[in-house]
Amino acid sequence: MEALRAAHLHDEFRALVLPGGEAHRILDKDAVVRLEKADAGHGGRPEIDRGDLRGLLLGSLPGDTVRWGAKVTGARPRGDGRHEVTLAGGSAFTTDLLVGADGAWSRIRPLLSDATPDYTGVSFVEADLLEADLRHPVTAEVVGGGMLFALGAGRGFLAHREGDGSLHVYAAVEADENWLDGIDFGDTDAAKATVLEQFGGWDKSLRALIADADGVLVPRRIHALPVGHRWERTPGVTLLGDAAHLMSPFAGEGANLAMLDGAELGLALAVHHDDTEAALTAYEARLFPRSEAAAAESARSGALLFRADAPQGLVDVFAAHG
Ligand SMILES: Cc1cc2nc3c(=O)[nH]c(=O)nc-3n(C[C@H](O)[C@H](O)[C@H](O)COP(=O)(O)OP(=O)(O)OC[C@H]3O[C@@H](n4cnc5c(N)ncnc54)[C@H](O)[C@@H]3O)c2cc1C
Repeated sequence: MEALRAAHLHDEFRALVLPGGEAHRILDKDAVVRLEKADAGHGGRPEIDRGDLRGLLLGSLPGDTVRWGAKVTGARPRGDGRHEVTLAGGSAFTTDLLVGADGAWSRIRPLLSDATPDYTGVSFVEADLLEADLRHPVTAEVVGGGMLFALGAGRGFLAHREGDGSLHVYAAVEADENWLDGIDFGDTDAAKATVLEQFGGWDKSLRALIADADGVLVPRRIHALPVGHRWERTPGVTLLGDAAHLMSPFAGEGANLAMLDGAELGLALAVHHDDTEAALTAYEARLFPRSEAAAAESARSGALLFRADAPQGLVDVFAAHG
């Protein structure tokens, strides 16, 4: 395993499905505030930075539980629910129960399903502005205390104030799958200029979210498995998290679901401690409808964010929820 994909886990997109949670602000491309809500403060959606959570979870395990640097290259059934898992370097081991928790491009998923992630049509470029109040006060003011959505037709900025006082930014663009390949991310100034071409005519305070970013820009294509992805019960193997239900981030549920999946799988195995297949059947019976609902929500949210009349779609969602 390598380090988690990003050092940030915050419910940055949660506001889409739960208006009234974290403070959020919706702007149009001219930086006109179209809707603003303060933190509802009901405590129902607590947030934690990804690195902190990762430390918390890893710290609760005996030191030798995680085998670092072990890259799985494939797995094959051996019969009776056992699987042989091979690692880069050629070594292999056999499992009684194999849980594929290996993310979007899971090496375990092919044991259960032919599905592969499809590009959603949206690409992100990720950026950070450090010590925002001190070093980027104007931009910090634009983003505000929580989540910012600055949206226009086919593009937008999604930005979030982190616990450490930095701003975490995604420039989102509806683009061909190969758009990011044409950007030289090794040359940050050139990359910024190319990304900002997509935001010509946008207010300077919004363009600054990329123009003034600290450090490198990071490209991220957004992929998703088919909504309703599921598989037939197959002895000795199951999936959780993105391996099971990769979805676009617009419902803000991916990491939450991965953790819930893990907890429920653990509980099912504890309840059915003498019958692994019964445990996996019980786990998957809850997993499939739950992830289908979230994936559908995410796809719906993605469709309205960058509509031709953006940000009206998102404003309407919030207005409908009071
Ligand atoms: C831009 C963006 C923004 C997001 N924002 C949010 C948000 O606000 N809220 C939210 O809840 N979710 C969000 N998500 C989704 C969230 O990041 C994922 O749903 C979550 O990380 C899934 O967790 P996971 O453990 O299933 O997979 P991952 O986090 O991908 O972890 C998989 C692990 O498996 C390891 N691995 C992969 N392949 C192998 C292999 N062959 N051998 C060994 N190990 C392997 C990886 O190194 C990694 O450690 C966002 C995603 C993106 C792309």
